[in-house]
Amino acid sequence: MATTINESAVSEVSHEPQQLQRRKDDGAAPQPILLSPPHVFGDERERVLSAIDSNWIAPTGPAVREFESALAERCGVAHAVALTSGSAAIHLGLIALGVQPGDDVLCATFTFAGSAFPIVYTGARPVFIDSEIEGWNIDPRLVAAELDRRAEDGTLPKAVVAVDLYGNTADYTGLRQACDRHDVPILEDAAEALGASHDGKPAGSLGAIGVVSFNGNKIITASSGGAAVTDDEELAAKMRFLSSQAKEPAPHYLHKTIGFNYGMSNLLAAFGSAQLDGLDARIAARSQTYEFYKKTLSHINGARVLAPPSWGQSNHWLTCATFDPAQCPSPEHIRLALAEDGIESRPLWKPMHQQPVFEKNDAVLSGVSDRLFDSGLCLPSGTSMSDADRERIALSLQRALS
Ligand SMILES: *Cc1c(COP(=O)(O)O)cnc(C)c1O
Repeated sequence: MATTINESAVSEVSHEPQQLQRRKDDGAAPQPILLSPPHVFGDERERVLSAIDSNWIAPTGPAVREFESALAERCGVAHAVALTSGSAAIHLGLIALGVQPGDDVLCATFTFAGSAFPIVYTGARPVFIDSEIEGWNIDPRLVAAELDRRAEDGTLPKAVVAVDLYGNTADYTGLRQACDRHDVPILEDAAEALGASHDGKPAGSLGAIGVVSFNGNKIITASSGGAAVTDDEELAAKMRFLSSQAKEPAPHYLHKTIGFNYGMSNLLAAFGSAQLDGLDARIAARSQTYEFYKKTLSHINGARVLAPPSWGQSNHWLTCATFDPAQCPSPEHIRLALAEDGIESRPLWKPMHQQPVFEKNDAVLSGVSDRLFDSGLCLPSGTSMSDADRERIALSLQRALS
């Protein structure tokens, strides 16, 4: 198994630049253990070279079609449209669902900004909804209450963006019940959840449109990229049309709508296909890491590892833990102690309703995401992690928590 970890690339895809210190007291500095570095162990190189040889060096080509059909199959849907990023996929997905300037779109508050920014690109307003406590995703009860209230006022949102955070699917049974009653479509942001499932149905297939991401820190990467997946032929055709500059079928470049240049490069699709072939191995490795953290932290009073919710299977993209402030040091203390040993960890996502850029947006809050942000950490979960790395992490966690 060849292992390629490119540190400079990784700091680019990290949520923000972070210096990892290394212990200098014992001679050779150990390699830093990063949160979720890219991991290349398949035939990525051969596939990219063969895409180059085919001379399809463009944002379309046979490798794109191949990647799309493998993705659609993996997500259990009829269509996939490979795009430049998960953000681009959310943007086109919202437009395809009819979101327009001035509309409201409900969105999970506990997520990465990449879920919410594309709502703003369409000219619509995100309204942030707090989390349920089991899987930390958008709370169907809050969504139901908000939709009922808005139905009475005649201010129903155009769509709901549900996010499958850290590899766990949201509670789609409850969400669909709430949304179907008011005919509001769900866009599933499965950027972190490729390979996870809900009641046996794959992540990506759980809303009207699903979105996956191939950014460098995701469970599979194409160095960048994303895709929109759907069972709906019309929605797929619309997104595909908009993604390549909305060219009408005429030889003279006729445009009746504003388009986007969002198509995935054929070279990246070749790379992505090879990564997708290894998805099950990646999930298996990350599950092992999850089991390791569960065992390691089971001895610590007040430490709790986020378990997959009862309704689904996780891809274990990142293992997260919360630390009860009455019994444990603060997450920031733990993070800094790990960093001193060259181990990267991160606070949980800072909720969107706490972000200065969204301070004027409406939010329906229960306090759950605020508490999670104050008490939790994401722990290193990369597939290239060795047993020796795990041992180092266990020791460092013990030291940090004692
Ligand atoms: C990564 C991510 C995105 C954005 O995907 P990109 O491919 O980086 O644009 C959106 N939502 C969530 C939850 C993500 O983790």
